[in-house]
Amino acid sequence: MVNTSIKTTKSEEIFAAAQKLMPGGVSSPVRAFKSVGGQPIVFDRVEGAYIWDVDGNKYIDYVGTWGPAICGHAHPEVIAALHAALEKGTSFGAPSVLENVLAEMVIDAVPSIEMVRFVNSGTEACMAVLRLMRAFTGRDKIIKFEGCYHGHADMFLVKAGSGVATLGLPDSPGVPKSATSNTLTAPYNDLETVKALFEENPDEIAGVILEPVVGNAGFISPDAGFLEGLREITRDRGALLVFDEVMTGFRIAYGGAQERFGITPDLTTLGKIIGGGLPVGAYGGRKDIMSMIAPAGPVYQAGTLSGNPLAMTAGIKTLELLQKPGTYEALDRITKKLADGMLQVAKETGHAACGGQISGMFGFFFTEGPVHNYEDAKKADLIKFSRFYRGMLERGIYLAPSQFEAGFTSLAHTDADVEQTLAAAREVLMSVTSYQLPVTSD
Ligand SMILES: *Cc1c(COP(=O)(O)O)cnc(C)c1O
Repeated sequence: MVNTSIKTTKSEEIFAAAQKLMPGGVSSPVRAFKSVGGQPIVFDRVEGAYIWDVDGNKYIDYVGTWGPAICGHAHPEVIAALHAALEKGTSFGAPSVLENVLAEMVIDAVPSIEMVRFVNSGTEACMAVLRLMRAFTGRDKIIKFEGCYHGHADMFLVKAGSGVATLGLPDSPGVPKSATSNTLTAPYNDLETVKALFEENPDEIAGVILEPVVGNAGFISPDAGFLEGLREITRDRGALLVFDEVMTGFRIAYGGAQERFGITPDLTTLGKIIGGGLPVGAYGGRKDIMSMIAPAGPVYQAGTLSGNPLAMTAGIKTLELLQKPGTYEALDRITKKLADGMLQVAKETGHAACGGQISGMFGFFFTEGPVHNYEDAKKADLIKFSRFYRGMLERGIYLAPSQFEAGFTSLAHTDADVEQTLAAAREVLMSVTSYQLPVTSD
């Protein structure tokens, strides 16, 4: 029997203080545990597949700082490379050879990328790629999919309406209607709606941007033919296809989802893994399009800390580690064991669930499924998820604190970790029902 009454006094104290200092006590919203209720855990250190909180509790971590920790947290080779880089200083604000090294690695790996620009976050990469799409095509409208996240820039914060949404409505106060009026949305995996949007807006759509495997509405994979269909439609209409591989890049495969599915978009955004745990984003693609970026071309985009030597160093070392033979087979094997195991445990304990995994990315929903899009995902039993979440946390398993986030494994996760996780899940799911206590939330 696992000790289920962990002590989190210090976490509670620190988070209480944080709430007076920072909005919601956090630097990014999902960390506040709003969707699972209760208090977030405050962490002290990470190593391998584990994360330790300020009270000394140890957890098996399936968040992996939202993806970057694919080699395991604080990998000794990444840390050593960073120590060496640190000796030379923290920022140049000028060219360094490290940028060439990482750029070459990215260009070699990602099929669509012939030229790349480094930025500091995935949000920045997506903002910039949108400007570039518009500049290259001379068109203003774009299509995004419901439940796909492309960072927090105005144009992407569009509330997903059901069915065919025409003009997008802003998802957040402070986003002017004018900023999202050119953002059209369609349900994921729905080619017919995409075709209809192109019909209704002839020669006005610059392109289509999507997560080639969705991670920001929970884990949702593309149906057979969906990515191919988008490639065909965009090509036929003179529009660009953009894969937002901030999450899937170097995770679904070394060359990202585009390598795995054999579909080459025109442009790609990257982030997370290519920074090896430091802040990095990037966008790249066809040379003729990328050559429009300043100073080679007229499309302005800049960044004081872009190409930062520490971030480049962590990215280079992380990609080097990923190049070792067997990496993606190992990720796939351990993640399949976890994802299949979870569904099996849910079935044996009498809970409706569906889910899956590709390489080191996984997810499951407490609903019968199948889940093809965000509407389907929203049918999940969120009360059950919150109770499950708390139970797992108390048993030392740290999952993403929302039903609508994918999970991540790393090369450091072992069979024993997965077995411990499944044993905890069994214990929790045997006692969890949907409609016991309501979830406490503020
Ligand atoms: C995380 C993420 C972003 C945003 O990246 P940040 O570094 O958090 O700004 C954009 N797109 C996708 C698909 C992401 O997963």
